[in-house]
Amino acid sequence: MSNRDDVVIEKWDSSKSGEGRVFAAVFAHSDDLAIFAGGTIMKLISEGYTGYFIKTTNDEMDSYDLSFAETIYRIAKETDDVVEYLKLNKLYSLDYKNHYLEHSQLTEIRHRLITLFRFLKVDTVITFDPWGHYEENPDHYITAHAVETASWTAGRQLDLPELKDMGLHPKFITRKYLVARGPQLVNRVVDISPVAAQKLECMKLHVTPMDNMYRTYLDLHPGAEITQDEFVESEFLQKADPVYGVDYVEKFHYIDETDSFSFMRNQQS
Ligand SMILES: [Zn+2]
Repeated sequence: MSNRDDVVIEKWDSSKSGEGRVFAAVFAHSDDLAIFAGGTIMKLISEGYTGYFIKTTNDEMDSYDLSFAETIYRIAKETDDVVEYLKLNKLYSLDYKNHYLEHSQLTEIRHRLITLFRFLKVDTVITFDPWGHYEENPDHYITAHAVETASWTAGRQLDLPELKDMGLHPKFITRKYLVARGPQLVNRVVDISPVAAQKLECMKLHVTPMDNMYRTYLDLHPGAEITQDEFVESEFLQKADPVYGVDYVEKFHYIDETDSFSFMRNQQS
């Protein structure tokens, strides 16, 4: 396990260290993808990773004043555009009702994730930090806990044993990039400076959620003189603390248990 006292700056390089690896970005909402991890996703893909987006809700609440049906329709199209822009292999939308994820659904979501993780041979997840503080949105913290439990049980021999008969064999998720909106134990800062402009472009593809956030912001700040583009950049492109020596970052609590799980497997064999 990584030393939690150290912050590692993950720099952009031309290595192909991700070849043969597979990540799943698992978020509740379409726009979480580019906002929290767009730059990191571009970095991992450039290093050879294969990537998927698993979205847990149907996004029906994320417009300013459209109907549920129109909101779902528009965001589905925009999400396809973002998945293509980020060069992700595919979107799996679990389509639970937006803002209504509940603890009673945890087991069901966990099982759907285990099935997908095994089928896609996922070894890395990018998702919400289940231990981030003061998160108000149930979609965020329920998704976080479902991914956390699925990452471990996906590798267990006796969890969902019927999957083995379908050819979906146990496989642990050993790397996690965890994001939070509130306070969090940050131990990894990914340098996204080389793709900061692309991240901005990518966030703008989330047209409907960005319009919703911008108009809501203007309601809360009457008379604010800020364009939507300026709003998106100031709210969602993180300038790095000078101590990191890079321009733009995405911050995570990062866990890498690859070595410890290899050790466990060797002990068992
Ligand atoms: Zn969200």
